[in-house]
Amino acid sequence: MNRRMKTIAAACALGLAGLYASGVATQAQTTPQQAVDAAFNKYKGLKEGKNADYIPALAKVDPNLFGIALVTVDGKVYSAGDLKTEVSIQSISKVFTMAQVIQEQGLDSVANRIGVDATGARFNSIIAIEGAKLMSGAGAPEMNPLVNPGAISATSMVTGGSADAVWSKIIGFHNDAAGRQLTVLQDVYKSESDSNQRNQAIGALMLAYGYIKSNWQQAVDLYTRQCSIGVNAKDLATMAATLAAGGTNPATGKKVIDADKVPGVLAVMATAGLYDDSGKWLYHTGLPAKSGVGGGIIAVSPGKFGIAVISPPLDDAGNSVRAQKAITDISNALGGNPYSGKKAGS
Ligand code: GLN
Repeated sequence: MNRRMKTIAAACALGLAGLYASGVATQAQTTPQQAVDAAFNKYKGLKEGKNADYIPALAKVDPNLFGIALVTVDGKVYSAGDLKTEVSIQSISKVFTMAQVIQEQGLDSVANRIGVDATGARFNSIIAIEGAKLMSGAGAPEMNPLVNPGAISATSMVTGGSADAVWSKIIGFHNDAAGRQLTVLQDVYKSESDSNQRNQAIGALMLAYGYIKSNWQQAVDLYTRQCSIGVNAKDLATMAATLAAGGTNPATGKKVIDADKVPGVLAVMATAGLYDDSGKWLYHTGLPAKSGVGGGIIAVSPGKFGIAVISPPLDDAGNSVRAQKAITDISNALGGNPYSGKKAGS
């Protein structure tokens, strides 16, 4: 390092000390609360996108609902908008059931049975199942636990002597990540159970192709239940922060998943968390993330923070429009992109 570089490095280090706010490094003096407020104000009037309506109960959710929460790895909470109203967690639950299987059965269990590659297709694509089957001779299947066929298969892998025993493990894992007792939104569960013939077809096909070993009906039912768990923005941000903090919930201190298993979970989120738009998302944010058709998105800045936004109107890929925009702005303002190569705050 020459003298000029040393001077710059020293200045950066000084800047770093000054810019640290509540465990989150900030750029250009933006504090986490300022970043959250700025995104809330910028997007609160945005009306793009449309609620999911293929599950009738989701079409009835207030499209104006908008809540943002950021939880740092040391448990500080920054928020704006609606933090109380619960929406159904939907596909964000796929992350935690995948994590539960990885925690119980190891990283290879999911990689070998389901795969950890992008399908490049929509979340409930049946063509993607055929594609994965065609490719299965060439190594691990081109599938992952964050699209419906892989997620229903992951749910089928949670062990337990009865459906109730499996369910209590699934909800227990979600509770531990959120740091409170969550409940199923019964209207959503009923609505999706009455209209999930496509997921039933997917479950049956996954049994036929050997991804699910038995009882696909139970797997589809428990998957539908896990998708109907009610969460608010703070719950989701705490769940994301648990992953950001290496698997230990920063609010409760409880270890939910081993630290050495978290990078695998985050890798699948980066690959497939926003389905066929995952590459575009990663390009702009660098953040492992997961969306749900209830309007939530979680994103993880490893070692720094978890962030969640709830806003029901979705784009064509099934991802919340305002959540994508708000998270991108907030994370980039706070230096959250792990690919930036910047030391925190520099
Ligand atoms: N329960 C929803 C479904 O299976 C979840 C989809 C999602 O959130 N993308 O269709």
